[in-house]
Amino acid sequence: MAIATINPATGETIKTFNALTDAEVLLKLEKAQQAFVQYRQTPMEQRGEWLKKAADILEGDRDRFAKTMTLEMGKTVKSAIAEVEKCASVCRYYAENAAQFLADVPAQTDASHSFVRYAPLGVILAVMPWNFPFWQVFRFAAPALMAGNVGLLKHASNVPQCALAIEEIMQRAGFPDGVFQTLLVGADKVELIINDERVKAATLTGSEPAGMSLAAAAGKQIKKTVLELGGSDPYIVLESADLEAAVSTAVTARMINTGQSCIAAKRFIVVEAIADEFERRMVEKLQALKVGDPMNPETDLGPLATPSILKDLDKQVQESAAMGAKVLTGGKPLSDRAGNFYLPTILTDIPEGSPASHEEFFGPVALLFRVADIDEAIAMANNTSFGLGASAWTNVEEERDRLINEIEAGAVFINGMVKSDPRLPFGGIKRSGYGRELSIQGIHEFVNVKSVWVK
Ligand code: NAP
Repeated sequence: MAIATINPATGETIKTFNALTDAEVLLKLEKAQQAFVQYRQTPMEQRGEWLKKAADILEGDRDRFAKTMTLEMGKTVKSAIAEVEKCASVCRYYAENAAQFLADVPAQTDASHSFVRYAPLGVILAVMPWNFPFWQVFRFAAPALMAGNVGLLKHASNVPQCALAIEEIMQRAGFPDGVFQTLLVGADKVELIINDERVKAATLTGSEPAGMSLAAAAGKQIKKTVLELGGSDPYIVLESADLEAAVSTAVTARMINTGQSCIAAKRFIVVEAIADEFERRMVEKLQALKVGDPMNPETDLGPLATPSILKDLDKQVQESAAMGAKVLTGGKPLSDRAGNFYLPTILTDIPEGSPASHEEFFGPVALLFRVADIDEAIAMANNTSFGLGASAWTNVEEERDRLINEIEAGAVFINGMVKSDPRLPFGGIKRSGYGRELSIQGIHEFVNVKSVWVK
């Protein structure tokens, strides 16, 4: 894929970039390694000051960064502004908490003095997706840099200006040269980078094929990976739920980022007793959404990020419909304008074996399933190869406990939509990946947990 900014709202190519040559990549790896030797010695307070400065820069230039995101991948500018603010918050969170998360942990042994120390690993590669082009990077970078590692960013090829802007933020914040570098390269260069002995570990957020490919390459080199992959999150609504809140939140949970979120609610599993009403209200609310220019603050839904995402999503919808799924609203691209726009869509009566019954839909398409009771709801929620998040709505305590215990996912949110929060770990099980980002667990992924025994 060419490295370029192509406006998804118009199809216009704004700017193209040359990929780094192998020699240029190797120079940057050497620079990262040299930077690590010095940077690992910097006191934690100093790293925290730089990270707080990064937060200030994010907030100070918030609108410019937001517009860059909107221009490159089409999210609404109001959601892009919120994303920049969230990045500032994760920087401050780790600046304030890293010392405590990484403090020595004493252990009683036969030594006179023994403890666990968290030491940095070195150069960490981050392969990142375009859907939250700032947030995905900052949630990796903030803990990794606080722990004393240095970062290399291989961002998605359609968001090069975001990638360069993040490098610029880190430089302006004061991090020494080489501590955080953007590598403008395609996916074909990831193996070269992971094979290099200076790179100690890698994290990837993206699709299953990309995750498999990175993990296989890293496995051959015995290097640790964290993988945050796809999801087909269930959204269960039981009879005791506050229906209006459940429907309003369902719309946000599915349509956020034009449906291009790994933790978007994708499968709506509703008990029969309230399903007609849930369906009626959801159709009404989806039809009221404003689809259009993402730079307009009034817009609810911008375009999909690339033409191929639009094509793939429409293919999934058409194949499911051809197999018998019913299209309640939407079900097609917006044909009266350029750009990758797709109408907010709901499918129901989804037949077993159709794409809608088992694939991730990465766009504004809600899949509605009816079940008899909580047993069927949990069974359906778990009937997926993914296990990222789950949202469930009930006001019955026993049901709540069962949902928390029995749903197979990295997160369960009761009476709310799944969201990432620096204070809670984030990640999946099954084919959604492994490892965790955010909170204390996130900062512990890329450290050497060193046991120290002194007599
Ligand atoms: P993608 O194609 O996998 O791209 C993600 C990143 O991986 C990009 O930087 C891409 O580079 C790179 N990449 C692609 N193929 C690769 C390979 N074979 N080896 C190494 N790197 C490779 O993913 P996407 O389609 O942009 O994103 C959608 C998927 O990501 C969805 O499944 C979604 O659920 C998942 N996602 C998960 C999370 C999470 O936290 N769990 C968050 C966001 C998205 P190029 O752009 O150069 O190809």
